[in-house]
Amino acid sequence: MKPTDPCPCGTGRSFAQCCGAALSGAHPAPTAEALMRSRYTAFALRDTAYLLASWHTSTRPATLDLDETPPPKWIGLQVRAHRPLDEDHAEVEFVARCRVGGRAQRLHETSRFVREDGRWYYVDGNIHA
Ligand SMILES: [Zn+2]
Repeated sequence: MKPTDPCPCGTGRSFAQCCGAALSGAHPAPTAEALMRSRYTAFALRDTAYLLASWHTSTRPATLDLDETPPPKWIGLQVRAHRPLDEDHAEVEFVARCRVGGRAQRLHETSRFVREDGRWYYVDGNIHA
């Protein structure tokens, strides 16, 4: 992905001006929604290290295997709601779409986030049927 490419998360901004800053470590995601978007982008780019680093230690898996066959191609993100619960807790509801071997799938989830020492982390989520 080039810095000037449109960001996979769909804000319309360039990768460098959007999730690229979080993925590179230059600027931590400033909000839970920004962190959620950066994690979607990390899934799209298969950035396992970033996904693990942005996962809260209480729920972080030891390893993350993104080498599914066939690999999902992430094709769109829609953030439905960003609900701050207090200063350091928030929920983000989103729909992420992908194609797996030509078949379209969608993931509708409400994720929970917590901020510690000024950084947002993904905790867990509920998948909507
Ligand atoms: Zn983005």
